[in-house]
Amino acid sequence: MNPSLSRFLWEGFLPAHYDFDSQSLHIQLKPDPAMLPVCSGCSQPQGAVHDTTTRRVREADCLGLRTWLSIPLRRVACVDCGVRVESLPWLARYTRITTRLHSQVEALARVLPIKHVAALTGLHWDTVKQIDKQRLAREVQDPDWSRVRRLVMDEFAIHKGHRYATVIINADNHQVLWVGMGNRRVDIRPFFEELGTYCHQIEAVAMDMNTAFDLEVKRHCPQAEVVYDLFHVVAKYGREVIDRVRVDRANELREDKPARKWVKGSRWLLLRNRSNLNPEQRLSLEELLQANHPLSVVYVLGEQLRAIWRGNSIWDAFKRWRQWQRQVDESGLAPLALFAKRLKPYLRGILAAAKYRLHTSCIEGINNKIKVIKRMAYGYRDNDYFFLKIKAAFPANP
Ligand SMILES: [Zn+2]
Repeated sequence: MNPSLSRFLWEGFLPAHYDFDSQSLHIQLKPDPAMLPVCSGCSQPQGAVHDTTTRRVREADCLGLRTWLSIPLRRVACVDCGVRVESLPWLARYTRITTRLHSQVEALARVLPIKHVAALTGLHWDTVKQIDKQRLAREVQDPDWSRVRRLVMDEFAIHKGHRYATVIINADNHQVLWVGMGNRRVDIRPFFEELGTYCHQIEAVAMDMNTAFDLEVKRHCPQAEVVYDLFHVVAKYGREVIDRVRVDRANELREDKPARKWVKGSRWLLLRNRSNLNPEQRLSLEELLQANHPLSVVYVLGEQLRAIWRGNSIWDAFKRWRQWQRQVDESGLAPLALFAKRLKPYLRGILAAAKYRLHTSCIEGINNKIKVIKRMAYGYRDNDYFFLKIKAAFPANP
């Protein structure tokens, strides 16, 4: 090899010997006599070598071969620092991979699951994870707390639904501000402690009505308005009303096998947002609703429920709410009446949505992204890493 090229590759060293087979390449390095080792304490070149130990490290693959280097690392006897290991610009202290390979792993782990990066590079899974975690810790920016006014809180399942974590988002720029284990009041307390004196500037907080977050918000930010977000209410309506009525309807159709099967299999069609259906799916939805009166009632009332959140003012939202309640009463459908009754205590936070216009549609996006991250991080037990990934996926929008 041309010595000037190898100087560029491994500054301070030259290749002394190669050894390779069909899969791997081993390169034995030797000190470049034209350069003095540099003390890692003071960064000064030092003439006196105390001793030498060989370190084997992984280099980025060369010509498709897994590549190892054997480096005779020197400890210098520095007049200022004492005995110190030499410092190399291409190999960080205590590491067993070169900075070149390190950057490759960082770039790959941005887009690929750890498992794939480990397979591509031949590095251990934990090594790849650690590199990605360090990158995230370096890159994820602390929020500018002074600019936080409106928040969105949500919980999500980790480890197959057995445990929960909570994510808190700045509603105005969609930055993930905080992620923590648990979904109880006490679990989100550290967030408010971090927010500190900025608690007083919070104007509104959107959340699922089925949490204890509202009490914790009131404790730290008494001036803030709690807003119940539409996304969760719609999901709850789907589970508690549409699903219930659909199953009841299917049971009524016991004698009519094809009709029963049709209603039973319509869950997806009923729960999907109408605007996301193609013309053919819309047509089958219309047919389904025409043939099954109770389903058409809960479907239409579901759409009208959503419309409450689109009120132009609190007063307008309240009128929509009253009209909706009246229609629920008239429907005579028990699951619907029960749902409406349970919704009543939350009226203030529902109507507040008309005033604060927190675009909680970001919750759905964040929920989906978290699922993808969870899949990519499959097998992890490292929640810090998982949470860093979430923060990195939602930086502050300008
Ligand atoms: Zn020194």
